Amino acid sequence: MSDQNPVFIPGPTNIPDRLRAAMNIQTRDHRAPDFVETFAPVLEDTKKVFKTTEGKIITFPASGTGGWEATICNTLSPGDKVLVARYGMFSHKWIDMCQRHGLDVHIVECPWGSGAPADKFEAILSADKEHAIKAVLVTHNETATGVKSDIGAVRTAMDAAAHPAMLFVDCVSSLGSMPFHMDDWGVDVAVSGSQKGFMLATGMAILAVSPKALAAMETAGLHRTFFDFRDMMKANASGGFPYTPPLQLIYGMRESLKMLFEEGLDNVYARHTRLAEGVRRAVDAWGMNLVAQSPDLYSDTVSAIYVPGGFNSNALTEHAFTKYGVSFGVGLGEMDGKAFRIGHLGSLTDAMVLSGIATIEMAMADLNYPIKLGSGVAAAQEFLRSGNDTSIKSAA
Ligand SMILES: *Cc1c(COP(=O)(O)O)cnc(C)c1O
Repeated sequence: MSDQNPVFIPGPTNIPDRLRAAMNIQTRDHRAPDFVETFAPVLEDTKKVFKTTEGKIITFPASGTGGWEATICNTLSPGDKVLVARYGMFSHKWIDMCQRHGLDVHIVECPWGSGAPADKFEAILSADKEHAIKAVLVTHNETATGVKSDIGAVRTAMDAAAHPAMLFVDCVSSLGSMPFHMDDWGVDVAVSGSQKGFMLATGMAILAVSPKALAAMETAGLHRTFFDFRDMMKANASGGFPYTPPLQLIYGMRESLKMLFEEGLDNVYARHTRLAEGVRRAVDAWGMNLVAQSPDLYSDTVSAIYVPGGFNSNALTEHAFTKYGVSFGVGLGEMDGKAFRIGHLGSLTDAMVLSGIATIEMAMADLNYPIKLGSGVAAAQEFLRSGNDTSIKSAA
């Protein structure tokens, strides 16, 4: 089987050759002076992707899940109340982690396919006169359902309630692919990882932390050692690391930032919107429905698509992999068997996305789905060839 086939899972994403080469470096001494010269500018430049000037970038050798844990353990104490809405597998898993750490989790249950309910948050926060709620946790892009939540609206709701809780945002599958405005949205900790929008191998949790969250760190009672922000910041201040850093990922990160800035972040976002719209046109042509309930919720990095009644989405993704060697996202949690996902983030061009649509279409035809072969491809082609003059330049 060829390894040239791109993956259409919503992370880890395809690694461009340029980044594979950047990560292919011999071991170097992380206590030598040249590590300082490499690492410090990477931290500084990463701020531009989070759109923060006030925040501190903190990285750990971990996946995004480690980033969640670092966030809560550095800012909260056992028994602290946090407010979270559950509307997909990733919000669900963050809730589970908070509960296992002994936090008092106020859960707002929402249908899968909806997003963060800013209006409900406002009502709950307004009623919390004693300010028992210490943090609001939001998954910006729910990768299980292809739903993007409006973080600005959550901030507006918190402000309207005049509530001092911190705002923690999981932007693992949105950062570097969809607009993110840490400072403007008043985000206190934003959590991302190396293997999605940054197009790198998995292994680095990437966080941006506000001054308010850093102040909370001083009194936070949850235990942490490996994930202690203080040890990391103390070592980073002189360009070092409190333990062995993931050197190859740091070199990869330097090149990834270069790629994102060369294309221009706004062009990167526009490319993702265009590719996503191409996929959505195909879904519409198939007569199928997105899990995301309304256009304002549509994610530009992943589309979750309901299969027709009587079909099993996992049989479809398995067939696409077995017969064509191409991976698509399976249905997670409540979507198990009901929806498959097309990841369209990171290093992707129009032509790559068309190949993904064509492949899943063949797989659906093989399994006797009620679709017309070529209909989705044609709809995406019609959209992608119109008014598109950025794709060549942006070919990652
Ligand atoms: C991928 C992802 C994560 C992190 O998962 P890891 O496998 O731990 O890197 C967290 N949240 C969302 C929304 C994600 O898509």
